[in-house]
Amino acid sequence: MHLSFHGADRDVTGSCHLIECAGRRVLIDCGLFQGSRELDQDNAEPFGFAADSIDFVLLTHAHLDHCGRLPLLAQRGLRGEIITTAASRELARLVMLDAAHLQEEDIRTRARRAARHGDTNGKPLYSTTDVQNCVDHFGRTAAYGAPLDLAPGLRATFFDAGHILGSASILLELEESGQRRRVLFSGDIGNPGHPLLRGPVTPPHADAVVMETTYGDRLHKSLTASVDELYSAILDTFDRGGNVIIPTFALERAQEILYFLHVGVEQSRLPNAIQVYLDSPMAVSATEIFEHHPECYDAKAAEMFRDGRDPFQLPGLHFVRETAGSIALNSIRGNAIIMAGSGMCTGGRIRHHLKHNLWRPECSVVFVGYASDGTPARRIIDGARHVRILDEDIPVRAQIYTINGFSAHADQAALLAWHKATQASRTFLVHGEEAAMGQFAARLTDTRVEMPKRDDEYDLLAW
Ligand SMILES: [Zn+2]
Repeated sequence: MHLSFHGADRDVTGSCHLIECAGRRVLIDCGLFQGSRELDQDNAEPFGFAADSIDFVLLTHAHLDHCGRLPLLAQRGLRGEIITTAASRELARLVMLDAAHLQEEDIRTRARRAARHGDTNGKPLYSTTDVQNCVDHFGRTAAYGAPLDLAPGLRATFFDAGHILGSASILLELEESGQRRRVLFSGDIGNPGHPLLRGPVTPPHADAVVMETTYGDRLHKSLTASVDELYSAILDTFDRGGNVIIPTFALERAQEILYFLHVGVEQSRLPNAIQVYLDSPMAVSATEIFEHHPECYDAKAAEMFRDGRDPFQLPGLHFVRETAGSIALNSIRGNAIIMAGSGMCTGGRIRHHLKHNLWRPECSVVFVGYASDGTPARRIIDGARHVRILDEDIPVRAQIYTINGFSAHADQAALLAWHKATQASRTFLVHGEEAAMGQFAARLTDTRVEMPKRDDEYDLLAW
């Protein structure tokens, strides 16, 4: 009975963990490495295990850093079954297709540049065909709290992690040679008390946990203070005649911000005619998927839906799918809110909006999500005077706001409470930058803590 680590080890992206028990191999997540050129290159490297040796893949949720290497797994010979919740299955398909499109687009751009400079031409990591092949491997869907018997000695139960629509922590009950172990994979743990989704459930007891530590070193501001800050950022910017640019992750964060804009207009804290552009085909599709799954909502959002009030709708909301519509936004000088991806400004349409607004002192850029080291978002947040975007040095003159109370991740206090409830005697920390992870580790008592490195392996029966 072994546990090994193949991504998000002393880092926040590329989640991928392997359990071997009773002759079967179970992968938990197979995420993309993101954030820097070096990490991008890691995606093309061998997994550290043979793709065709995997019997089951259990997916905690549909964020790219958890599902983004699944198409590659299919391309390299996966034969096993992928299991996740119904909502994650829909969202993961969307996220993986978007990733394939971006990679194909990137290759076309590089091919044009290669023609000009004589560089070598690349090949996308995977194509839309690989994504379609991968989707064929999705088998049973998991319902929260209902155990799935995968094989003798191998049972999986998904628990609501309250992080994004369909997200789960996964408990594996393992038995080998008469010995039993309960191993709980946290996935990403949600920030309790947020609107729309239910909070994370109290986790079950486990012998060992593999848990995320994204915000293991800090406490979030309260949500109320964050909403106040968002509204005043918008109103101040409109007073100056500028635009508000919000780099957003397409899943959950975009919908949450739309929800708070909706509430702001409903409570007359924001002007009724406020013009909001959601400039992300993926976020637009994700919003539609959210609308299909009211069963995942908390009581208040469910009630809004029952009353016929769509919590994502606004009188001045425009969904922008086509490129031409996105380019047209470049001519808007002020009084608009433009939301686009990617959240860390590493790619996508947000780069064009930064190029047109970041240098203008009357504008604002509002960061509402995590920005990992080395990304343009992190450089702007850390006070860079210039950032390189689309091969141009853009001066940073806009007002910069970082509002982390919207985070979809639990903060240190919530992570500690979650860990305590598991009563685990052994703890493997993953999905965090080393400093945050170290600070979190120092707060854990009554458990043996490991901070595995990539490809480290542990015998689960040897303790
Ligand atoms: Zn996530």
